[in-house]
This record gives sequence, structure tokens and C-alpha cells, in this order.
Amino acid sequence: MKLEAYQAMSDEELRHRIKKAKTDKNAIILAHNYQRLEVQKIADFLGDSLGLSRQAAKTEADVVVFCGVDFMAESAKILAPGKTILLPEIQATCPMAQMVTPEALAEAKAHNPGKTVVAYVNTTAGVKALTDICCTSANAVEIVKSLGDREILFVPDRNLGGYVKKETGANLTPWDGYCYVHNFLTVQDVERNRAAHPDAVFLIHPEAPADVIELADFVFSTSGMVNYVSSIAGEKDKQRGVIIGTEVGLVNQLQDRFPDIGIWPLSEFAVCGTMKLTTLAKVAWSIETGNYVVTLPEDVIENARQSLEKMLESGR
Ligand code: SF4
Repeated sequence: MKLEAYQAMSDEELRHRIKKAKTDKNAIILAHNYQRLEVQKIADFLGDSLGLSRQAAKTEADVVVFCGVDFMAESAKILAPGKTILLPEIQATCPMAQMVTPEALAEAKAHNPGKTVVAYVNTTAGVKALTDICCTSANAVEIVKSLGDREILFVPDRNLGGYVKKETGANLTPWDGYCYVHNFLTVQDVERNRAAHPDAVFLIHPEAPADVIELADFVFSTSGMVNYVSSIAGEKDKQRGVIIGTEVGLVNQLQDRFPDIGIWPLSEFAVCGTMKLTTLAKVAWSIETGNYVVTLPEDVIENARQSLEKMLESGR
């Protein structure tokens, strides 16, 4: 059946088809916190890159439907090469991941032979294959600390790299990439929200610029933000409310889960366009028709797995 036919179905029918196809094909659905809320709600596992990587590595399902962007589905393939990994939307790419190519990284390594390459998981499989160890926004500080006084080349996010450098004092050179969603959060966004919600706790993602991070009460990955809001759900602190400095998909998730807590986006324009391309219709089409299958060359899988496994084995 063509995608158009699924797009004409009701959400209820799509959810029913997805549930049945999951059982028939022994499939699971992993969804990133930035997905549309209706997609988040049909996921077996919801989380950030690190949490989803761990689920992909340990699942006993034969098929993993990855609702996120391409580098995440590639990571699932690298960690579970024997499984069928499906990406429902082929155009779901990450502009930041594309800011460092394997060719450019190979050239940088040739010019910096002694440096250890630390790659944020938001990189292509080809870049991970040239990397010493991966990290996520949740564990980047700890991973870099574990490398002691080694000289580090950090790709691709200059904001996360700068934050890690400040927190660790490491001899770290950040690549000049950025996430357009977080990089355009501003001090003015913070001032506007602080004025509107003066008692609120302000949480920021480390992909934001340094001057915005500076003004935050806490710096968290998306899973850190979920944990923080969950932790105040039964506490007096919840009356203060929370300003969330990351992509609005996470804000939507938290507002849905905790309707009695004031939860406000730092900017309602913090929307990742490619994360929103995945719809219920595309998930139903993907799981029933087996599209799009993620494939990678074996040598890339082998080399990239080492950098991802080093991160997972570090337990951070
Ligand atoms: S939110 Fe930023 S880092 Fe995440 S997928 Fe979108 S562009 Fe890439």
C-alpha cells in the first residue's frame, strides 16, 4: 500500500495497525524526545540519543523502527547490525551532523596527529568510524574528564564543546558546527521568560550558546530535563514552574505528562524541522512495508561500533 493511503487513515486506525504490525513482525518503536507528541505516545521507548542507543543495543526485537533522525538510526544499526532498522522518513537528517564530513575529519586528524577525537553522537556513521570515543549531551563532561590531560578534537558542536571545555578545563578544540535549533536561543528569550515567570526554574540544553547557558539554573540533556521535572512533580518546588530551553517536542511531552506544573518553552520557535517529518502515517507505512531499511558498509559498522561501545562501556 502507498504512503498516501496511510495518510488518509484516522489516527485511531493508524495506531491499531502499528500495534498489530509490531506483534506480527516482533518490532519495537524507539522515539526521540523531539518527535511529534502523537509519535512519542506510540513508542516502546522514549528518550535521548544515549537512552535510545542503549535500547537498540539490548533489544531482542527483530525490527527496530527509529523515529528520530538518520544518525540515530545509524547508531542503532551499528550497535545491532543483525537487526532490521527502519527509518520511517528518509529525509529526516540532522543539519548539525552534516557539518562534519568523514573527509574533513580525516584531514583535521592528519593535521593534528596526537589529538583524541571525541564525537558527539550527532554525527554520521562515517565520522564515528574515524572517532576515538563518542559522547552524548548527557555524558560529554564525564567522557572528556575520563580522558585526563589528552588533547581533544571535539566534533561537531562548538557550543557543547565549549561548555565541556569550561566545565572540565580540558585541552579541547571544538569543531565549528552547531544545532540551528539551539544556537538561535538568545539572552532576550531568557529575559522575556524570566519577566513572565519570575519564580520559574530555567533549564538549558548544552547545545545552546554560552551566554544563554550562563543564565540557566541547570544545564541538562533532554533526559536530565525529564528527570528534573519528574523529581519536582510531588514537591513544593513545582509551584515555581519550569522554563525549558530545548526543542519544543520535549516541552510538549512534559506539558502532557505534568499538566499541573507550569512548563514553558524558552522559545516556541525552537522547532527541529526534520524531527517533525515523522508522522503516525509514516510509522504505520514503515512498519507494514519495511521501509526505509538502514544499511551501512561493514567496515564502517565495525569501526564506528568501537567508538560507540567505548562510550557505552564507560557506563557514563
Ligand atoms: S535538534 Fe538540532 S541536533 Fe537535534 S536533530 Fe535537530 S538539528 Fe540535529
